[in-house]
Amino acid sequence: MSFYVTPRRSGETRIHKSSCSYCKDGKGVGSIFKVRRNNTVWSPPLATLVEAEAYARNHHHGKVVRCRHCLAPSALYRR
Ligand SMILES: [Zn+2]
Repeated sequence: MSFYVTPRRSGETRIHKSSCSYCKDGKGVGSIFKVRRNNTVWSPPLATLVEAEAYARNHHHGKVVRCRHCLAPSALYRR
């Protein structure tokens, strides 16, 4: 499993797991969120949540948030 980072139109940067239905290993979204400014840009796969958060802070401005679907606190412990 890996993590992906993507900026959102709201200015937030969101972190997803590769298994997230919104992410699909970096191939998801686009049509779902209808990002018109640039294309939806997914980060390369990141091995850990810590790395993903560091990547988000280094590459994007604004708030870094975790996806509520795949990275909800309960989901993290469900493995
Ligand atoms: Zn997600």
